[in-house]
Amino acid sequence: MSLPKAVIAVPLPEATLARLTAGCHPVTGVTPGDREALRAALANAEGVLSPAPTPYDAAFLDALPRLRVISNFGVGFNNVDLDDCTRRGIAVCNTPGVLSVAVAELALLLILAAARRFPANTAHASGGGWSAGAAAPPLGFDITGKTLGLIGYGRIARETAVRARAFGMRVVYYDAYPVVTDVLATPVSLDDLLRTSDFVSLHVNLTAETHHLLGAREFALMKPSAWLVNTSRGPVVDQLALIAALGESQIAGAALDVMEAEPPAAEDPLLTMANVIILPHIGTATAETRAAMLEMSVSNLLMVLGGEPPLSCVNPEALPRAMQGR
Ligand code: NAD
Repeated sequence: MSLPKAVIAVPLPEATLARLTAGCHPVTGVTPGDREALRAALANAEGVLSPAPTPYDAAFLDALPRLRVISNFGVGFNNVDLDDCTRRGIAVCNTPGVLSVAVAELALLLILAAARRFPANTAHASGGGWSAGAAAPPLGFDITGKTLGLIGYGRIARETAVRARAFGMRVVYYDAYPVVTDVLATPVSLDDLLRTSDFVSLHVNLTAETHHLLGAREFALMKPSAWLVNTSRGPVVDQLALIAALGESQIAGAALDVMEAEPPAAEDPLLTMANVIILPHIGTATAETRAAMLEMSVSNLLMVLGGEPPLSCVNPEALPRAMQGR
């Protein structure tokens, strides 16, 4: 029996390639951003492993009747219409948990970078200002004793709470759904969180409901001294409203790992605003985390193709059909 074809649109070490060839016929070297190349590579494919933001809309999937598993390299799954995939019998898999610590560490990095004016101070030192005796950037502030408000209290938020508590922060959270309560953080309403937090940090998944969850009304509720931190997904924030709020000093600053458009347009005003810190979507970019994500996403792919339930599937209703060859 011939092995099912699967497109692998992430870089692969040799050992992983060997593991894949035992369960599928892998097609590698595909750049996921090149839509036409991806579509061509996917002809007759039964599986695909690609970075979580790779979109698979209905028109794209119409041309791929044999596809039965989309294995996302990442935890987010806003790249697909889940109901549509379920109707088509396509399992959508992801890599929850193994990346939570890396993203939480990055959220803490952004909080500390904002508090200690990290970009201005590194520019002062490496740009020659310090050597020349120029005036130092304004003072930063302690994060100990400050309030961190987590919007969405899932896996990454909880790891962020652990680390924030170790830094002596008070932690509150708002979640729209029931979550396991713990001693790390106190539940509050969204508006109370916005009014009382010194850092508002986003940890929701991107859905129709969380699209533009923070906009003009929400920024108006925040303290003028507060910072927004976003390591979730760019479209959770209404970016035009954010630019306006920053311009009018309604909030103190924004530290963002994600943006509404990625990569951003070169003229995006956020890239040059003094009170904005931007990272190029590197939440999971550590060697350990990327290796664990690869391991899990390859397992998910091979398990569905081999007729077994995968480690993590966000539309399990699709599994009975997805696990059968077509
Ligand atoms: P999770 O599912 O464990 O947590 C998400 C939480 O958001 C849940 O508790 C859920 O109830 C809550 N939520 C959903 N809708 C809400 C709403 N309308 N209002 C308030 N809360 C709401 O997910 P996770 O593993 O913690 O990951 C969270 C997100 O982080 C991912 O979906 C992904 O988009 C993003 N992420 C970003 C990076 C990065 O590189 N920056 C890396 C990994 C994940």
